[in-house]
Amino acid sequence: YFITSEGPEGAGKTTVMNLLGERLIDEGYEVVMTREPGGIMISEKIRDIILNNEHTMMESRTEALLYAAARRQHLVEKVLPALAAGKIVICDRFIDSSLAYQGFARGIGVEEIWAINKFAIGDTMPEKTLLFDIDPAVGLARINAHKEREKNRLDVENLAFHQKVRAGYLSLVEKYPERIQVIDASQTIENVLDETYVIIKRELEI
Ligand code: C5P
Ligand code: MG
Repeated sequence: YFITSEGPEGAGKTTVMNLLGERLIDEGYEVVMTREPGGIMISEKIRDIILNNEHTMMESRTEALLYAAARRQHLVEKVLPALAAGKIVICDRFIDSSLAYQGFARGIGVEEIWAINKFAIGDTMPEKTLLFDIDPAVGLARINAHKEREKNRLDVENLAFHQKVRAGYLSLVEKYPERIQVIDASQTIENVLDETYVIIKRELEI
């Protein structure tokens, strides 16, 4: 069973999904927790090239191709073998990040990003995607309060950019209403976790 989480930084998606994973493991499920870009060595190296601040001048299509390349290797090396072994794979970000960030917010176009990602992933799509939705102003305030790491990136990804990312994600929800489930991430972490848990348990028990 392939589950992905999406949303901006500051929505708490990594925290919530890690807690969810632990809970499922406690219940006896076999769960692989992973993330994009990254999750395995080659893709973590690509992540470093993309996100390292020395490279903030990277051209947007170059960036989009690197995300797709990291996705391909991670899928083949980690996700597909785990799914073949019957495990639950929970992946922090997947194709919807590329569609929302590069396709929509960076303005490359959702069709273009879809095409290179189709090349990268073939027919593998998540069964369920959780979109941790939050007003970017609230999300960015959370990041400023808690995380030193993301601050640098805020210079290149300002509020207007994050509003475009959000609009991009919400348009994907309209396109894939069965797959993508929106979660109100402005609630407390406990409430977000509870809501997420209920959704995923319902999916796993079908
Ligand atoms: O969620 P995570 O911390 O792994 O994301 C790292 C950064 O990569 C975030 O700042 C996010 O905005 C960016 N990103 C992106 N395009 C993607 C995936 C992530 O710009 N397709
Ligand atoms: Mg995160």
